[in-house]
Amino acid sequence: MTPYTGLIDRYRRRLPISDAVRIISLCEGNTPLIRLQNIPEVIERDVKVYVKYEGLNPTGSFKDRGMTVAVTKAVEEGSRAVICASTGNTSASAAAYAARAGIAAFVLIPEGKIALGKLAQAMMAGAVVLQIRGNFDAGMRLVKEVAARAPVTIVNSINPYRLQGQKTAAFEIIEALGRAPDFHCIPVGNAGNITAHWMGYQEYARDGVAKTLPRMCGYQASGAAPFLRGHAVDDPETVATAIRIGHPQSWDQAWQVNKESQGWFDELSDEEILASQKLLAEREGIFCEPASAASVGGALRDLASAKIPAGSVVVCTLTGHGLKDPDIAIRQSSARRVNVDATLAAVERAIMDNMT
Ligand SMILES: *Cc1c(COP(=O)(O)O)cnc(C)c1O
Repeated sequence: MTPYTGLIDRYRRRLPISDAVRIISLCEGNTPLIRLQNIPEVIERDVKVYVKYEGLNPTGSFKDRGMTVAVTKAVEEGSRAVICASTGNTSASAAAYAARAGIAAFVLIPEGKIALGKLAQAMMAGAVVLQIRGNFDAGMRLVKEVAARAPVTIVNSINPYRLQGQKTAAFEIIEALGRAPDFHCIPVGNAGNITAHWMGYQEYARDGVAKTLPRMCGYQASGAAPFLRGHAVDDPETVATAIRIGHPQSWDQAWQVNKESQGWFDELSDEEILASQKLLAEREGIFCEPASAASVGGALRDLASAKIPAGSVVVCTLTGHGLKDPDIAIRQSSARRVNVDATLAAVERAIMDNMT
């Protein structure tokens, strides 16, 4: 058996990568598709709900799928530096792939508004971290302006190679299920990922690998929900910092996905998002970051209302790993923490007292 060597090797003929090129990879992709089996809303109904655990990519988010292609192309084209604006995960991924390639990374992040794990990742990989006094949308505007003047390659999802890499998640889902799901539920920030998944599903349908297409269901945080408002939002705010975006870069594309797939957008409050994150961890042992849980929270609500009907096959993307932001997890966890003396008697008593 040959070892897995990353998604460019796996899907090379479906990607804009030529044969001679040096591939910059950290063996991203090939993430597990896990069926939910303990959540009441799911087991009470005749539905199959799976989560695609993208938090198990090398830097802990789906961004690695796009970054391997974007950085491979940047290096092929002779670029010596990449740049991105980020709510955290893009910067972690860009920093790691730039380190792997031996080129520089500049990352613009909103000061004080990214999860600490993501900042640690960018710093450890040696990126130059520019903490701006402004949000992601301001950072994105600056990145576009500066890249027109300085010799740096933008690796945000406006870089078309990013979406090419990210479409492979849809390929993997179809291969794992032997078919396309009926509904694909996904968190939406810049809307690059929902666009990329639709590209992947369409490509496999066109080539006859799958017979059907899913309906694409995009979920936003209520405080950062431009697709629900129908226009850009200037001061997005949500606990789910990865989707704290008011001016989505793939606005038109996502509306087209919405129309073509006959899907929908919906919104969740911060409380609903955190409750879904906790539910997944407590019931299934799957730890994702808050933004990721919007997909499952949305799917469960739409199952309960029968908007997603009985008999359906549903896939929810878990975009990033829960370890990115342990603070938020510990703050909202209701797990018992008991301080005890370091004696057998005290530990035994604590066990007996807390047995459920
Ligand atoms: C980037 C990101 C998103 C949003 O993806 P878009 O392509 O911007 O819509 C959602 N969740 C996490 C964890 C992310 O890192």
